[in-house]
Amino acid sequence: MGVSPGRVAGRVVRMPGPVAEPPEGPELAEDGREPESARVAEAAGAVAETLRSRAARAGDTGRAILEAGAAIAADEDLREAARQRIHAGVPAPRAVWEAFGTAADTLRGLGGRTAERAADILDVRARIVAHLTGQQPPGLPDTDEPYVLVAHDLAPADTALLDPALCLALVTEEGGPTSHTAILARGRGIPAVVAARGAWTEPGGETLLVDGSTGELVWDPAPEQLASLTERVEVPPFDGAGRTSDGHRVPLLANVGKAGDAEEGARALAEGVGLFRTEFCFLGRAEEPSVDEQIEIYRGVLAAFPGKRVVVRTLDAGSDKPLAFVPTGEEENPALGVRGLRTSWIVPGLLDRQLDAIAAAAAKERAEVAVMAPMVATVAEAVDFAERARARGIAHVGVMIETPSAALLADRLFQVIDFVSLGTNDLAQYTMAADRLLGSLAALNDPWQPAVVELIGRAGSAGAAVGGGVGVCGEAAADPLLAAVLVGAGATSLSMAARAIPAVAAQLREVSLEQCRQAAAAVIAARDTAEARAAAAAILR
Ligand code: PEP
Ligand code: MG
Repeated sequence: MGVSPGRVAGRVVRMPGPVAEPPEGPELAEDGREPESARVAEAAGAVAETLRSRAARAGDTGRAILEAGAAIAADEDLREAARQRIHAGVPAPRAVWEAFGTAADTLRGLGGRTAERAADILDVRARIVAHLTGQQPPGLPDTDEPYVLVAHDLAPADTALLDPALCLALVTEEGGPTSHTAILARGRGIPAVVAARGAWTEPGGETLLVDGSTGELVWDPAPEQLASLTERVEVPPFDGAGRTSDGHRVPLLANVGKAGDAEEGARALAEGVGLFRTEFCFLGRAEEPSVDEQIEIYRGVLAAFPGKRVVVRTLDAGSDKPLAFVPTGEEENPALGVRGLRTSWIVPGLLDRQLDAIAAAAAKERAEVAVMAPMVATVAEAVDFAERARARGIAHVGVMIETPSAALLADRLFQVIDFVSLGTNDLAQYTMAADRLLGSLAALNDPWQPAVVELIGRAGSAGAAVGGGVGVCGEAAADPLLAAVLVGAGATSLSMAARAIPAVAAQLREVSLEQCRQAAAAVIAARDTAEARAAAAAILR
């Protein structure tokens, strides 16, 4: 399934699997122990050096993680603990495995934030053992040559570290169209194909042609197939005012995760920001950022849109966007667990500190700031959130509609907040009961599902009844034909990755509001996604 457009080809780099636990092995002979110790020092030094040099080249998101790793690899106490084991006859890989494992267990036992460091120690352990045993180190490849990355699955933190100048395309066996990996790839313009069964376990060649629109994959493509490549899709320009052919205004906004995205959005003439995913600023961070640091980060986004609306979403941590400083614990079903607004129930003060930072950033910039909460299921949650935000002088308060419950309660939500924003990625996941990370369920996680559009229509009607804003900020808004359907279902603004705006704007210009309404009605009446797409296309094209 293609999830981020672009047709490219390049050499394949396979994301490694986990480094295997080294066997206990035969006891080392006395005279072999000193050279074995020296091997550990050499391997740990090499790992520290690699991480240090990658840190120097990484952007802000990656630098802190890589520097922390380099410090662990250089840690004398850890090396000494491994040396002692070697001097008792344990081979180097096993000695490192045990010494670092014990240290990680100790940290875990201490609980709280210290416990979060255990994962960093285990990552460095895997790197040193990989070096000692000649395996590929874990994590992203360290290369200066362009490559197509083929992975079983990729965490958002890894995707955020990808350099679009080097990573030509991304192919994963897992992941659906609305997984955060897909969203990040799209936002960064990296062509991507997900749910590619077997691509990682049984790679079919050394080079791979990837079509991120159609999902086509060709191993070792023939020269004539390479001749057809165009690196980036051409898009018509946007004039800065979204509207239908009969002049019905639909502001087209940008989804952003950092200041750089907001600047790109402003250059693309986005009419504001409909979704600032604040958690994207802190992926890979071990500790909660201070209020002062948060203020600076948020100001960076607000500064790109003076006089324009910027909707800041409070942290949507948990599930597939784990943040180390928001420990949700082990959960059987993380997507149904403590995520989004619910994390404020387990980390005292987290939400209040973030709202303090947003209010302070808003006071220093000229953007028209709104806040909204993710993963809301009840009216009481919305009331509590609105009280906290308004107590800090934030005038525009909204909630996301991502659960079927919120969609069905939309009329009552409008009694306590100012606007809603439809998170169609999660609304599809929860309506269809299909984990958005699972490649095998990608077809269910389709916002064209008639049931999903019907719920969007409920929210649209509730907003229309009171003149409240009904935004859409899920990936559905970036699909030009579906965007017109959403307008027909009552969306008053659409927010998407900046590079999707021109195509959506062009489609809306071709159709009247009445056509959009007819298309929405036809989609809601359809039996399945194929019928829904065909019915909408017949009305809108
Ligand atoms: C959504 O669920 O549609 C949404 C916009 O939020 P996220 O993708 O960050 O979960
Ligand atoms: Mg969501």
